[in-house]
Amino acid sequence: MSEKKTCSFCNRGEGEVEFLIPSPDLSAYICPMCIDLCSQIIDEYDLQTKEEIEAEGEKLSSDTLPTPKEIKKMLDDYVIGQDKAKIALSVAVYNHYKRLIYNENRDNNENEVEIQKSNILLIGPTGSGKTYLAQTLAKALKVPFAIADATTLTEAGYVGEDVENILLRLIQAADFDVSKAEKGIIYIDEIDKISRKSENRSITRDVSGEGVQQALLKILEGTVANVPPQGGRKHPNQEFIPINTKDILFICGGAFDGLSKIIESRRGKSLMGFGGEVKSKVNVDKTKVFEDVSAHDIVKYGLIPELVGRLPVIVGLDNLDEDALVRILSQPKNSIEKQYKKLFEIDGVELHFTAGALKAVANKAIERSTGARGLRSIMEEIMTEIMFEIPSKKEIKKVIINEKCITNNAKPKYENK
Ligand code: ADP
Repeated sequence: MSEKKTCSFCNRGEGEVEFLIPSPDLSAYICPMCIDLCSQIIDEYDLQTKEEIEAEGEKLSSDTLPTPKEIKKMLDDYVIGQDKAKIALSVAVYNHYKRLIYNENRDNNENEVEIQKSNILLIGPTGSGKTYLAQTLAKALKVPFAIADATTLTEAGYVGEDVENILLRLIQAADFDVSKAEKGIIYIDEIDKISRKSENRSITRDVSGEGVQQALLKILEGTVANVPPQGGRKHPNQEFIPINTKDILFICGGAFDGLSKIIESRRGKSLMGFGGEVKSKVNVDKTKVFEDVSAHDIVKYGLIPELVGRLPVIVGLDNLDEDALVRILSQPKNSIEKQYKKLFEIDGVELHFTAGALKAVANKAIERSTGARGLRSIMEEIMTEIMFEIPSKKEIKKVIINEKCITNNAKPKYENK
């Protein structure tokens, strides 16, 4: 008499389950329900170990520090184009954290070389991805990140924001873990707007300008700053959070309007031969002019030499052209096109942009000189009306947006179910 086969895990018999899979020696069986259950357990286990790895990754060591190539690859997932800038940044950031790990392990041996910090200056037009690059770097390295706007900063004692408040933001981003914040990244935007020769300088601007540059210099160089925990002004008798800024990586960014003229005039001069003869034509490719920027040009622009000296890595970003903007719209993991498609998909509607439509959106951004920054608002202008209509038109299965919808406000093409 043959024995009735049962699942060795849940004991369900042959008739109760779809099928039973035997072990190679036929001594045990497993049913589909128990297979499902096991795969769920494996998934949960995977998730758990991934979280554990991520938690460990928070502590950068020579084993966990990604290589410049790996950092660049992570940037590539989000930031389109700007290859030269990405390579320069990957190397600079890798060196920064390598230095940090090395200095930590130096065991206070005075004879060993101490590697000094290299903060970074990003130069490029609005919306070319300066902030986004800094933000993505911090995300890739899982370090705390804060953004500050140089134009809102003033010297202590004046109305405005104290430089220390930038540090508070970083401490907040690190959930008040000061030692974590001390290894974070701070992006300071519009650094060009506090230059000494800033044309739009008003009486109040005078208090920022050079004074703010001096204040910034201090934290960029490395100092123990006392940060008021609530932000705002310092009060006597208030408890402060001391934070050492020597290992914080500062990335400063600015559009530096008019800098190209300084670079071109320098290049023009150096191209003059004896007797004032021009040896060759100055390169007129405006998008690439920042590739040739030197520290001297930045000083001439109006940043104090000490501050420029603390920003030894100077990286120029390109103007984003039509092709780059189209790729930004569609390619990154969380691209604007993908986000709208997802929004429509939730309503059960397929959304399609023609290639012409994406190009037209890119060209609008170029016309407005907003770089990639303007892409979302241009899209929103077009999509709002469509998103207003769609949810009440249950018969619609597909929406096609073409060039005319962008340029002439034409209605999109609808396909019904
Ligand atoms: P900037 O700081 O140079 O003025 P941002 O980095 O703030 O410009 O760019 C604004 C937005 O545009 C970013 O949040 C990002 O969504 C998008 N963006 C800008 N440049 C790029 C790029 N090269 N690749 C992908 N997205 C970009």
